[in-house]
Parts: sequence; structure tokens; C-alpha cells
Amino acid sequence: MTANQSENAKRVRHKRRGTEYTVIGTGRIQIGKPLNDMDHVVIYWGDFGDLWVRGEDEFLDGRFEELPKPINRISLEDVEMMRALANEPRNALDAYQQVATHSAIYPGQGTPLGLVYVALKMNGEAGELAEHVGKAMRDDGLVSTIFRSGNDTEVTFNGLSPKRRALLIKEIGDVLWYLSAACNELGISLSHAAETNIGKLYDRGQRNALSGSGDER
Ligand SMILES: [Mg+2]
Repeated sequence: MTANQSENAKRVRHKRRGTEYTVIGTGRIQIGKPLNDMDHVVIYWGDFGDLWVRGEDEFLDGRFEELPKPINRISLEDVEMMRALANEPRNALDAYQQVATHSAIYPGQGTPLGLVYVALKMNGEAGELAEHVGKAMRDDGLVSTIFRSGNDTEVTFNGLSPKRRALLIKEIGDVLWYLSAACNELGISLSHAAETNIGKLYDRGQRNALSGSGDER
């Protein structure tokens, strides 16, 4: 049998004592040795919503082992650790990666499918960033264009609204999250990718090859 959802749970009253209770559900009892009145029992859920009951002594006799709690959210500890490490620019990226990983649950994680997934989603978030820039142009007057006679066009640039700016910052963070996940899939740190990029740009600068195109300049 399965347990009741809390809002639908049945309420009952013991007619003689007058005490009231919520029925959790109907479970099955497992007994290796007889139980006595007022013995403590442990009530536990199965992964399919099934309820089980077992005497506490039996439950704690070593037949069960406690599983580590899954980490799938960012804790206050994570945030504090990141703040502490963020004073070092190199560490700030890696601290972010470490903390962001605690919220990483996605299909194929740790397999080539995971890399495919994060690459797709990273582009989705980059698209959301571009979408807000487009909306700033269309709706917020980021760029005003006045057409004059012939091909003459006057373009005026205005500031971003605080709201749009906040939305852009959020999307940049979303892109960063997937960049961090992509680094995880490759087994590298975010700072490694950052240093590789700066090294590449430095090398190009030394060779006066900063402009132009091509990945292997
Ligand atoms: Mg987003």
C-alpha cells in the first residue's frame, strides 16, 4: 500500500480517549522476533511509495546501512566558501565551479551524452542573453535610429534599463553555469579554460595577430 499525500490524509479520533491522529497510510510489518505493546517501531518509505514497519531493535541491528545524503543544491556553506575563496581571482572561478556542481543534475552526466546536453543548453542560455539584448533594442530604446534623406541614418545609443541589465546579468550567470558543467564533462577546471584563453590571446598579441579570424591564428 502507499502512503497518503498530506493534504488528502485521513484524520481519525480514538473514540474512548478522544485523541486525534492523521493516518499516514497502510504499510506492511516485517517481524523477525515478536513485538510487545509499546515497543518502538521504525516506519519507512520504499522508493515506490510503499510503507514498511519494523521493530526499532531489528531496524538498527545492522541489516540497514545509512546512505549519504545526495548533494543537489547549493548550501549556505557553499556560498560562504565561495566568498572566502573569491578574493583570489584564480580561485573565484574554481570555487564557483565547485559550488555550481552541487546543483548539477542533468541527463547523461559524466558520459558523452552529458557533454552534448550541456553544449546544447549553453547555447540556449547564450540565446536568452541575445534575446534580452534584442528586446533592449526593440522595446527599451537601447539604440534609436532616425532615417534621413537618401541612405543617411542617424543612430543614437542609450543606456540599458536597470531591469534589463539585471536580466542580462542573470543570463550571463546561466551561461557560466553551463560553461562550468562543460569543464566538468571534460575533467578540467574553469580556471584552466580561462588561463588557456588568456595564454592564447597573449600569444596572438605577441605575434600581432589579435585581429583577423581562424581558431589557430
Ligand atoms: Mg536563462
